[in-house]
Order: sequence, then C-alpha cells, then structure tokens
Amino acid sequence: MLHKCANPTCSNPFRKLSEGKLFLVEMKSPSTSAATNWENGKPPRIEHFWLCDCCATVLTLSFEKGRGMVTVPLPEIKKQPAPVRLAESASPPAYTEEQSRIRSA
Ligand SMILES: [Zn+2]
Repeated sequence: MLHKCANPTCSNPFRKLSEGKLFLVEMKSPSTSAATNWENGKPPRIEHFWLCDCCATVLTLSFEKGRGMVTVPLPEIKKQPAPVRLAESASPPAYTEEQSRIRSA
C-alpha cells in the first residue's frame, strides 16, 4: 500500500520513515456509519500516505469528498514571512535604503 510518494506525478519510491512526511488518515466508509462499524468490533480503517522529501516541502494532503486523498500545495505564507522574503529575493540593500528615504521625506 505504501510503496511510493502520494503525489501522482512523482515516482519517488518509499524507503524510510525518516524521509519525507507520513500521513495517517482515518477512512470512514461512506455506506455505513462509523459508530456502527466500531460497535461491530471493526476499528476505523487507517490509511497511510507518504510524501517524499521533495514533495513534502511544497505539498500536503487533503481529503476531498468523492475524490479521496488529493495533493494540495502548501500555503507559502506560513513558511516564510513575506517581508523577509521580499528583501532577500528581489531588492538589493541600496534599493531598500532609498525607499525608506523617500518614505521619511
Ligand atoms: Zn514525491
């Protein structure tokens, strides 16, 4: 069941638990209620999904009705605060200095 990355477009094989990101998802059967299942002595089915190191940095997994588990892009804002990122990527220090001078004038 767990032999490759959960990203359908990625073919990285699953090797170690220490690599990438493992997801445990409780699968509720659509036909029978979870409560009935449990009373019958059947625990909820736990599915394992794994994203490789590469995909785990940009993707996460989400459960969608009718589709099952799907890969969704991680919101980038949570990973890096926007102001830091702007200063690092595009603008050289001189530019930011200039900008602050304009603002204070
Ligand atoms: Zn992958």
